[in-house]
Amino acid sequence: MNIPFLNLKEINKPYVDKIETAIKEVVHSGWYLQGQQNELFESNLSSIIECSNVIGTGNGLDALRLIFRAYIELGQLKPGDEVIVPANTYIASLLAISDNNLVPVLVEPDINTYNIDADKISSKITTRTKAILVVHLYGRVCPMDEISSLAKKHQLFMVEDNAQAIGAEFRGASSGNLGDAAAFSFYPGKNIGALGDAGAVTTNNDELARVIRAIANYGSSQKYKNQYKGVNSRLDEVQAAILNVKLDDLNMITKRRQELAKKYCSRIINPEVILPQMPKDLKQHAWHLFVIRTMYRDQLMKYLAAHNIGTMIHYPIPIHKQVAYKELSELSLPITEQLHDTIMSIPLHQCLSGNEQDYIIEAINAFSPKGV
Ligand SMILES: *Cc1c(COP(=O)(O)O)cnc(C)c1O
Repeated sequence: MNIPFLNLKEINKPYVDKIETAIKEVVHSGWYLQGQQNELFESNLSSIIECSNVIGTGNGLDALRLIFRAYIELGQLKPGDEVIVPANTYIASLLAISDNNLVPVLVEPDINTYNIDADKISSKITTRTKAILVVHLYGRVCPMDEISSLAKKHQLFMVEDNAQAIGAEFRGASSGNLGDAAAFSFYPGKNIGALGDAGAVTTNNDELARVIRAIANYGSSQKYKNQYKGVNSRLDEVQAAILNVKLDDLNMITKRRQELAKKYCSRIINPEVILPQMPKDLKQHAWHLFVIRTMYRDQLMKYLAAHNIGTMIHYPIPIHKQVAYKELSELSLPITEQLHDTIMSIPLHQCLSGNEQDYIIEAINAFSPKGV
């Protein structure tokens, strides 16, 4: 058997006919930006998330940046304000903060959930703290009860980086509808992926939505009248049409991922492998990635590669150790570093067959580290 970590050709195969038809329609419509497909996408995502405003954007990073930028234009945030953010995340979360001249304040994750440790947030809150960016990392919803009450108590905006968690729920509400605004990514490898870059903002705040929509379109809500020094970050009609096809399958995709994760958790029994913690409520995890931990990470990755099983590390270098964030290099974040040294992701996606999963489980269970 040969099981790549992710094969986008296989992921998109079930949609090829519908996608080709949808693209053809766009080609022949003669209308390529801000048209019917984008409108339909926004209304589709709005009904899925049950959120009153959706703004299609060029990608997920822009969606995040636009949220903070809009708060600044509204005078509700100002450069120098501090934003709480997990230390263990993809660099996009941090870029959205620092691009807006806001100050990221990194908080350690909980080693069992990989998500921000709610108990460690309070000590980082100062008079300058104005917002918290929660990241539902790997698809798992953050501990929202604790974080929401902290946000309320300290009057912080709560922004969700929902790039990895579309399809997850928390107490009956969709992730992406749990704070003041959320960013989605439809990068090809995400649970719902476009065939290129695409993103979206969701918010129930009409004023914020209006400003975001304008900034994303050159700062203009009326042609040739520019209210803000905006950017160009729009979701194009072709990608919107593709996403409209794929969004129909969101429930199926999420359910299949949850089943696979459950099976991994019950069947992987190698004592050298630490499994990700299952949330009590299965719906709280969309399983964008299935991330295990082991002291023998490099050995296990090589061993699985020899068995033709693809694995990856999300992410190999913590942000505070990246050259781009030299100013954070002195921070002491031992749990983040420990995670980055021991984590690896094994294949989990809706096209993974039962046989393939059995093969992966057997291989992992048969692994024993050498030289111990
Ligand atoms: C993918 C991702 C983003 C950025 O999305 P793009 O569409 O690639 O710009 C932001 N945050 C997290 C956690 C992500 O995984």
